[in-house]
Order: sequence, then structure tokens, then C-alpha cells
Amino acid sequence: MHVVNTTDLTKIYDNRYIALNALNLRVEKGQVFGLVGPNGAGKSTTFRLLLGLQKATAGQLQVFGEQMSADRADLRRRIGYLPTNPTFPKHMTPIAFLQFVGSVLGMPKDRTKIQLTRLLQAVDLAAAASQPVRGFSTGMLTRLGIAAALMNDPELLILDEPTSGLDPAGRKQTIELIRELSGRDRTIIIATHILTDVERVCTDVGIISAGRLIYSGPMADMRRLARQGTIAVEIEGNTTAFEQELHTLDDFGSVRYERIGSEFRITFLGTQGLNEYLHRVLQLIDRTGVELLHVDTGSDEIEEAFLRRLEDDRTRGFLRAAAWAAALEGAGSERKEEADAGIPGHPSV
Ligand code: ADP
Repeated sequence: MHVVNTTDLTKIYDNRYIALNALNLRVEKGQVFGLVGPNGAGKSTTFRLLLGLQKATAGQLQVFGEQMSADRADLRRRIGYLPTNPTFPKHMTPIAFLQFVGSVLGMPKDRTKIQLTRLLQAVDLAAAASQPVRGFSTGMLTRLGIAAALMNDPELLILDEPTSGLDPAGRKQTIELIRELSGRDRTIIIATHILTDVERVCTDVGIISAGRLIYSGPMADMRRLARQGTIAVEIEGNTTAFEQELHTLDDFGSVRYERIGSEFRITFLGTQGLNEYLHRVLQLIDRTGVELLHVDTGSDEIEEAFLRRLEDDRTRGFLRAAAWAAALEGAGSERKEEADAGIPGHPSV
């Protein structure tokens, strides 16, 4: 069953700003679905519409197989929602806040107490349960927000940028928590602009750009695509300086690398084409003063693949993912149906 199903969902703010442009999003029961896109792509707008907090300008929107609208509080009660950077009344303790959430949801007092105790344990806040939230770290506030979103044991959990503002340890803890929360009966949708987070926890991924879903498919397929975007360089000299600067190669959080001696295998899954990344890698080599011994694009049939990639790269940005997805289908992917469903109109490449 589709827990979320949108058809040509469109949202135009003030008759001027197009936030969603015929978005076709399908999320199935039990999936941990990563909605990935840069700031302003339309992720939060999608969530506000899914929750019935805002009205669509056009198109269809079904949640749990039913039409969502402002008056569907019954459907909303089946959804848990964590907004970006949640805030809480500073004087309140986690216990007091979750009790308040329970009362707003109309939960019986006994059930509220059992549920909040269980959740405070689960999100690792039991030790801080009776301290005022004033002074909590961003990670603790996020975990309290997740506990609040889980109070009514929702079938659908929506997390808007749950790792935003967290240090690496907090990020890892939050990802672990999300992993524990996933299960057959619960569907989770996570919005993020950080691909590595999605990669660690999601079963499926959708890429949203300028209000359109331009790729949707299983994480495993995405990983295969990611592997294709690899550049390997062998360098000597101040390799530490080079290593420290690697993360600056893409502002999308999508640079990963593996170091084997003097060789760096750098993988990209960002918004730019591979030739652009190659250019940036060479610039970084220049900037950090290391000497380049060897470079290749990490493909088996390097030359052919590289030429094809350059061709693909003419379609800049996210469209590249769609092009690769089409190539995957051509290669006989068993996921043809889903891929078809997920790439509205197959953007021409
Ligand atoms: P994301 O969550 O991916 O960062 P948003 O859904 O917040 O994206 O925003 C999508 C687009 O809609 C952006 O261009 C944003 O400026 C615009 N937008 C969002 N909310 C409003 C609003 N209330 N009024 C006007 N424009 C808005």
C-alpha cells in the first residue's frame, strides 16, 4: 500500500513562488524514504501539504490511501512530525513537555506516562528527563523532538532535516535512532540535503529539485550510481593538506573518499557533473601543491565510460541522476516499474 501518493502535486505561494511543480511522490509502507534536495527544493512544503497544514494549489494528495486536507485531524493523528530545529519552552522538562504533547493528542494519562517513559529511554534522555530543556544541546533537542513525534505511536514518521546542526557524534546517534525506529509497520520519510545521512539509513531515496521529483528508487540502485561517480588520484607531497580540503569539493555533503596509501578514491553524488568534479579535484591538487602521479575515473572501461559520462554531464545537476537511472533501466534493472513511476516524464537528456 502507498502510505503517501501524490499526483502532479503543485504549490504556488502568493500566486508567485512555485514551491512544488507537479510532484509525483510515492512512498510505500515500511520504507525509510530519504527526500533529498538542496535548500529551497520544496521538502518542507511537501511535508506541510502531507500534514494538511497547507492547501495544495493543484494536484492530488493521498495519505494512507485517503485524501488529505485541513479537516482530516484523524489522518494527522497517525503521523508524527519533527520540524527542522525544533524548539521547546525553555523552562519545561522533557517529562513535562511530553505530558503536554500527550494531553494535546487526547491520550489517557496512564498511557501518556508509560509512553513517555519508554520514549525517553529510547532517545537516550532518561538521565535528563527532569532537567529544564534550557541548556540542552542541539542533539538532545532533536531527540526530544523525535520522542514528541512518536508519542502517538505514528504509522508515518516525518523528519525534516533531523541531523541539521548536529556534530558528527550527534549525527551518528540520530541516524542510529532512526534505524531503530524503522520497521515493517512504520514508514519514515526523512528530508535532508546531506546524502551521506540518507545513505546510512534509507531503503529508498527521492531526489527533489526545484519542486520536482527527478529521481526515485531503491537506495541500492542509488549506491550503484554513486559508485560510478568516482575519481581516483594518486598524489605525493603534502597529502594531509589535500585530505583536509577534500570536503570542500562539493557543498552538497556528498563527497566521500577512501585513502589507500597515496591513492584517494573520491566519490561524488552531488549536483554537478563528473567533469566539473574532475576540474575541482585538479584545482585542489594545484591549490595544495601536491604532485599528481595518476588519475582515473574509476570505471572498468575507463575511456568509453568517461566519454559517455561527459555526454551525460551536459545535462547538469540532478538531471544526471535521472539519466543514469534511465541507463540502469536499459541495462535490465528489475526495478523498471518503480523507476518509471519515480521519474515523471523522464527528463530528456
Ligand atoms: P526546502 O524545505 O527544500 O528547503 P521549502 O519547501 O521550504 O524548501 O521551500 C520551497 C520554495 O518555496 C522556496 O523557494 C521557498 O522560498 C518558497 N517558500 C516556502 N515557503 C514559502 C512561503 N510561506 N511563502 C512564499 N514562498 C515560500
